[in-house]
Amino acid sequence: MRRISVFGATGSIGVNTVDLLRRQGGAETFDVVALSGGRNIALLAEQARELRADIAVTAFPELLAELRAALAGSDTLAAAGPAAIAEAAARPSDWTMSAIVGAAGLAPGLAALGRGGTLALANKESMVAAGPLMLTEAARNKARILPVDSEHSAIFQAMNGEEKRVVERIILTASGGPFRDWPLEKLRDATPAEAVRHPNWNMGARISVDSASMFNKAMELIETKEFFGVPPEQIEVLVHPQSIVHSLVGFVDGALLAHLGPPDMRGAIGYALNWPRRSPGPLERLDLGAVGRLDFSPPDERRFPALALARAVMRAGGLNGAAFNAAKEVALDGFLAGKIGFLDMAGIVETVLEKMNSGDDLKITTFDLDRVLEVDRLARQAGKDAMARVKNRF
Ligand code: NDP
Ligand code: MG
Repeated sequence: MRRISVFGATGSIGVNTVDLLRRQGGAETFDVVALSGGRNIALLAEQARELRADIAVTAFPELLAELRAALAGSDTLAAAGPAAIAEAAARPSDWTMSAIVGAAGLAPGLAALGRGGTLALANKESMVAAGPLMLTEAARNKARILPVDSEHSAIFQAMNGEEKRVVERIILTASGGPFRDWPLEKLRDATPAEAVRHPNWNMGARISVDSASMFNKAMELIETKEFFGVPPEQIEVLVHPQSIVHSLVGFVDGALLAHLGPPDMRGAIGYALNWPRRSPGPLERLDLGAVGRLDFSPPDERRFPALALARAVMRAGGLNGAAFNAAKEVALDGFLAGKIGFLDMAGIVETVLEKMNSGDDLKITTFDLDRVLEVDRLARQAGKDAMARVKNRF
């Protein structure tokens, strides 16, 4: 039986992953090792019982008693806290889903890579903050990383069987989010409630706001560079409101291969789960005749400054990704809490990057987890300082 672990099992990606495991036979087909969640203890316990997981871990120690009670009478062990999650990730498993949100997903992802097997990577933050570290750790332990982000899964599938040297460019598609056509003036006053309303994809709140600001696409630019090892100038972004073409790869002969599908993450998750084969999946079948048209246009980098920031980060490389990711998370928290405006998010990230690049913080010779976490901490502090100054302007 294939051993499976799912980190972030109670989130949007996690629930879709569990749905696919269930459709492929659940506990009868898979030997489920570990599941992790956060505050949703009831769901975590329900998943653990259904899949007969060896261990279920909540990120929050204060919820351990509740988790224990919810698992009473089952064979699943209860644990809590970041260290327990990393420990569970180090348990032998053949396939691990990394779907914790934010930088908290980095340490468990690295722990999973440390014992080999396949890591299905939804947590883009770990590629953005520590791509070189993730790849080195994978190579050192003969582990494999399969992309789950829909764009990267699309690129991976379009590149299947091709040599890397024949790839000329990669085109990431972006839905444009709920504010695609909003003028700059209106963006200034956009609220969190408006920002989480994604037109096509049903996702967690944080990634939905990142889609509205295009910080999600910015992260994906960096993720593409790190994951596929292509130079930044070969990666483009195209706004494609229908979210049907998930991304494209251009080759030296001028051919362009696109991956199409409905906006349902179970496509990319299922591909990673069954790779290198394909298995029957629950996706709605596309009726292109009914879709009728597919639109594409270049993004407006003036209204969506996150893209230019990502390009600067890609050019600078090194620990800039870690600073970018952390500053973005702090700015996003500030926006969700109503402390700063929608456009202030990019301003804060820019300020943090400028500040940290003017000193020695990002100049490195070694790239290890401690260094990444230290930069993460410094960038969060710089982000909070910058946010306090923004607040004072009102
Ligand atoms: P959600 O917010 O829906 O779920 C996040 C998961 O992480 C939940 O299980 C949550 O637990 C858990 N969690 C929250 N905080 C912590 C913490 N501090 N430590 C450990 N676990 C925690 O996010 P998504 O599923 O939308 O996204 C997960 C990842 O996948 C992100 O990196 C995102 O960028 C990426 N992704 C998501 C896509 C999507 O369609 N949703 C598409 C492409 C990438 P609980 O809910 O129990 O509190
Ligand atoms: Mg994506």
